[in-house]
Amino acid sequence: MHRMSARQLHQQFCEGKISAQQIVSHFLARIKKYDPEIGAFLNVFADQAREEAEKLDQKKAQGEPVGRLAGLPIAIKDNIHVRGELTTCGSRFLENYRAVFDATVTQLVKKEDAIIIGKTNLDEFAMGSSNENSAFQKTANPWNLQRVPGGSSGGSSAAVAARLCPLALGSDTGGSVRQPASFCGIVGFKPSYGRVSRYGLVAFGSSLDQIGPFANSTEDISMLMEVIGRHDPHDSTSYTKHPDDYFSLLSSNIKGKKIGVPWEFLENLDPQARQCFLDSLDVMKKQGCEIIDINLNILKYAIATYYILATAEASTNLARFDGIRYGTRSSRAQSLDEIYDYSRTEGFGAEVKKRILLGTYVLSSGYQDAYYKQATKVRIKIIEEFDKAFDRCDVIATPTCPTAAFPLGAIQEPLEMYLQDIYTIGVNLAYLPALSTPCGFNLDKLPFGLQFIGQRKEDTLVCHMAHLFEKETNYCRQLPPAYST
Ligand code: GLN
Repeated sequence: MHRMSARQLHQQFCEGKISAQQIVSHFLARIKKYDPEIGAFLNVFADQAREEAEKLDQKKAQGEPVGRLAGLPIAIKDNIHVRGELTTCGSRFLENYRAVFDATVTQLVKKEDAIIIGKTNLDEFAMGSSNENSAFQKTANPWNLQRVPGGSSGGSSAAVAARLCPLALGSDTGGSVRQPASFCGIVGFKPSYGRVSRYGLVAFGSSLDQIGPFANSTEDISMLMEVIGRHDPHDSTSYTKHPDDYFSLLSSNIKGKKIGVPWEFLENLDPQARQCFLDSLDVMKKQGCEIIDINLNILKYAIATYYILATAEASTNLARFDGIRYGTRSSRAQSLDEIYDYSRTEGFGAEVKKRILLGTYVLSSGYQDAYYKQATKVRIKIIEEFDKAFDRCDVIATPTCPTAAFPLGAIQEPLEMYLQDIYTIGVNLAYLPALSTPCGFNLDKLPFGLQFIGQRKEDTLVCHMAHLFEKETNYCRQLPPAYST
């Protein structure tokens, strides 16, 4: 069953060839066997999943219609609420925090009869690129257990890569869905800002955050997007646009579509990553696409801009964790000020504290003009440069990451870690949709990802291009050898 796509699995369930209980047992057994060494899950809902599966089998046996994700186990990043369950955000601060409501995405997948199988590990409050910032555990990359899975949604991507579940949800503020998808050799999609509701996602950088799906093919991504990509009155930035029809477009013709490549910006790419990228462009050329040169040199400012805006927003968003309304209260505290001070001192990890300090600094009255306001201006410039590029091409292609997965503990220098997102971060600043699909391996048999970026609201076109690439190559059908049986 773990070798089937989510779509096939769902079909088999609908045709009565496999029961939901069989599916759930199969994936729970895999989690039990493999997750001790991978560490993708913070919490597995074994009993609830079995119960849900039994109910679903009964519903089907009674001839009632079943949902569009019926029978499919799905993992959810632990910064997205599932009512009654812990939402730790990978932080000691929220170690005991139980969600009081379902996130909109949770509600939507439940309504379509998906089975929530557990919550996955992440960098604390989604800040990081390797999952090493989680307060609870490290997650390993299923292609090589000494390597990181990427981050911050590394738990979700490792779970899907090792086929511990066919689908998962993550969140992407600067690359946290696409980068781990690239490192783990699976597909990860960051929808246009506003396409998927953020209601019930614990906010990091509200103007950048977007929930996105992980799967082993763009078809499976599309299946999930059709469910979660819809208007939500609980999120004021949510599109009112009608949900997109992904499938009818997946098979349409792309002959003559123009793919823009920012060659100059890609100058310093690692040679193996470059070769993989060039080979991928050849695949698209053979399908009738035209490759054109575009200029996105402005993106060399994207990381600096992001670390001003994202930290500013994070410092504001994380102010709510004060030991009173949310989170663990320090037992040492004797006064109100001490509750704030000690709870935050004990609850947050080093990276989170650093970002709160940086964000507070760039918003402080003496520096706001020099940093925060300046960064918002650069953001507008970045949006304009993307617009100009899209006047000349339909989609943009880049590698997802400058390298393949690096060894656990290998990057100690924060700026080096921040550079992981050099190709992904501009997309969030400009509110665009982008997808990472596997496009080959390096000599150590570690996957590389190919990123397609679309104009705002062109989510289906991005998926369409990726689907075509996947049809012509077979990278996304390859399993990490240790988890193929
Ligand atoms: N790696 C980036 C960061 O550390 C992006 C994280 C994300 O997308 N959540 O902020």
